[in-house]
Amino acid sequence: MTIYDDDVFRMACAQFEVIADYLSIGKNHRERLMYPKRAVAVTLPVHMDDGSTKTFQGYRVQHHLTLGPTKGGTRFAPSLSMGETAALAMWMSWKCALANLPYGGAKGGIAVDPAKLSRTELEALSRRYMQEMIPFVGPHTDIMGPDMGTNEQIMAWFMDTYSVYQGYAVSEIVTGKPVSIGGTEGRREATGRGVVYLIERAMNMLKMDSEKSTAIVQGFGNVGSVAALSLALKSGLKIVGISDAHAAIYNPKGIDVEAAEQHVHKKGHLRAFDQGDHVDPNELLTMKCDVLVPAAVDRVITGKNARKLQCRILAEGANGPTTPDADLILEKRWDEIFVIPDILCNAGGVIVSYFEWVQGLQSFRWTETEVTDKLFRILEHSFIQVIRRAKEHKISHRTAAMAIGVERVLKAKMMRGLFP
Ligand code: NAD
Repeated sequence: MTIYDDDVFRMACAQFEVIADYLSIGKNHRERLMYPKRAVAVTLPVHMDDGSTKTFQGYRVQHHLTLGPTKGGTRFAPSLSMGETAALAMWMSWKCALANLPYGGAKGGIAVDPAKLSRTELEALSRRYMQEMIPFVGPHTDIMGPDMGTNEQIMAWFMDTYSVYQGYAVSEIVTGKPVSIGGTEGRREATGRGVVYLIERAMNMLKMDSEKSTAIVQGFGNVGSVAALSLALKSGLKIVGISDAHAAIYNPKGIDVEAAEQHVHKKGHLRAFDQGDHVDPNELLTMKCDVLVPAAVDRVITGKNARKLQCRILAEGANGPTTPDADLILEKRWDEIFVIPDILCNAGGVIVSYFEWVQGLQSFRWTETEVTDKLFRILEHSFIQVIRRAKEHKISHRTAAMAIGVERVLKAKMMRGLFP
């Protein structure tokens, strides 16, 4: 379908076809499961600070509506396209189904580099995007959340814009909001915390000693920084490499992650952070470590570098970091590299978003301990199911995770039937 024509969408479809073959899903159901139910593109004119008017392109894709409203993040990134948004929405569907959440997948965003806008421009663009989305989203239709390039402040602007149009406060329209306006305790840290819970679980299974283990984390935003801090301070691993869009730092003696976080807080990036050697960002991924966490962009583990990976655990914090040709190589290296696939590894974000939505609908607040305990319980259940399925069927962890998700959506579609 041409509106989705894009490398990332093709990759998501190729992954789906592997699962559809494995599950022997017939032709009649394949396209129905794969293609998004709805998609919208909007043009967003904004007054810029210099007096000019600039237009931006925005998207929202709702992948399937079978199990409940759709749920998905909002990405602000210069190269965002309808196809990439659709791929991310599809992955959200399998992720929500694997965690047994009552959602279909969605994703949205704007093709923009948010770092190039002033705060006033960013607010105007965010509000315009939400205003254009009002006929398309709702607390029982499609709930937005944060993703790359967006944060709590942008979610607050979304919530305010939607609420102003309704005439009352509708906190359930977005998740990842500040706690002061109905966000939940523990949402900001949820994805990184979940990544680390699953890494600890895998290390335990593999009988690895965390005090003697090292980690490299690509991406130092919401997911990467929380994962790196938690791996270092809570799990006791030595962080030997970190990177962001501007710099990659390697130090075999260990990096002070708190100092890195403070540096990023002040400067906005890792450039000029002086606690190690600045290395080629691509090479950082193939340097020796026990745990590798890609937590930035998609398609960074490819057919070209998958053979060179030197980690014991690959924990996919990002969405779609591993391409299907890399998967073929990693499947052959299954006894060397333990993969925690993205739809399991980074599910903490949507699970706690679900908790935030439920609390909003009930006007009821949970404590951070309640949130984290419930999060770990769901992740534990998903982890056990994926490992068991992979072992019993001699398939990769990714195939097992996706198959559980796809099966649940298929089963629901079959039960509901096809109207008319
Ligand atoms: P973010 O915008 O907070 O941070 C992104 C980080 O990646 C920044 O440090 C940025 O500089 C860095 N980066 C960008 N391009 C890079 C490159 N080419 N090489 C190295 N670093 C690069 O985003 P985030 O919310 O942390 O999301 C990161 C990934 O995790 C995305 O794939 C996102 O879809 C996924 N994810 C996020 C959440 C969430 O709750 N935020 C949940 C699930 C999955």
